[in-house]
Amino acid sequence: MKKITIKKTGVKSYFKGHWFEFYAKFLPGNQKAGGQQCKAHCPLHLDNDPSLSIKGDSGRFHCPRCGKSGDATKFYGLLKGLARFREILHGVGVDFNIQGSGPLRGKSTAPSRKVRSRSVVMTWAKRRRYGGVA
Ligand SMILES: [Zn+2]
Repeated sequence: MKKITIKKTGVKSYFKGHWFEFYAKFLPGNQKAGGQQCKAHCPLHLDNDPSLSIKGDSGRFHCPRCGKSGDATKFYGLLKGLARFREILHGVGVDFNIQGSGPLRGKSTAPSRKVRSRSVVMTWAKRRRYGGVA
């Protein structure tokens, strides 16, 4: 079992200046909108027009339709349903074969896992709080 050594700075330096390569993997239909701007169909909502805009120099994304914005790691997390930054970095490292990304508990190509634990805990907490009243 190897510890994950990839860091956010590692991902950043890997894609520095060509963030379109990062997004192109997940957005096959993306089109250059001129300069360092790129437009694509947003995978985070049902998008009929290319609403998602991506900046190639900073790697930031913004979708005015669903209101999602942030950097590339956030995009990856939203897309894959990963909440933990460690898992996001690991996933990016594996997907792009970036050096320094070791296997996460032996599984290197595990499919994305939905984050369910938080809502389960919340429901449980609610029940506990109001359980005696109802
Ligand atoms: Zn969107």
